[in-house]
Amino acid sequence: MRRRVLDLCIRFGKIISRVCEGFNSGAIVDEQTPFEPSLRYAAMKISVKAIIFDWGRTLFDSETKKEFSEAEKILALCKGRGYRLAVGSLTSIHSNATLEERKKQIEDFPLRKYFEIVAVTDTDKDKSFDEIVQKFNLPREEILIVDDRTVRGIQYGNLRNHPTVWLQKGKFANELPNEETKSPTFIIHSLEELLDII
Ligand SMILES: [Mg+2]
Repeated sequence: MRRRVLDLCIRFGKIISRVCEGFNSGAIVDEQTPFEPSLRYAAMKISVKAIIFDWGRTLFDSETKKEFSEAEKILALCKGRGYRLAVGSLTSIHSNATLEERKKQIEDFPLRKYFEIVAVTDTDKDKSFDEIVQKFNLPREEILIVDDRTVRGIQYGNLRNHPTVWLQKGKFANELPNEETKSPTFIIHSLEELLDII
């Protein structure tokens, strides 16, 4: 009888060990699953305190030269949720605006009141981002960057340990992340989706 009980225990142990193996191999597969932005974000366990928005084609329609209709609502909600906000803008051949025009656009638009910091440049957007980060005086992991271009704000943020949100929409929607830009933490297709993240 004792022997039978012992035998059963051994068998039961083997079954348990197989089940556990299954769980373990599942976990390993999960870790190797190709990049899943929201899971990566959750794994980072970060606390975002500030957000840097790109201007052209993120908040502002460079083609029609009007702010996107949803932009003000999103900024108001971000502000209402306690985030400190900044805007960073680079004027280039794609901007449909000169540096002076762009500065005036931002200053004159109703969106201006939501931003604690504004940085506009026609030379080096990375420097503008650096300037904003310095003024926020927060760890980079606590500053989220939202941009419609992978080669601008997304690349800047990814290489410096910021959480990033790529707004894959409009003129640069096909400018996919690559080895140089690295993958954004999140990909959204409308600004409203940002509210599900923050
Ligand atoms: Mg842009």
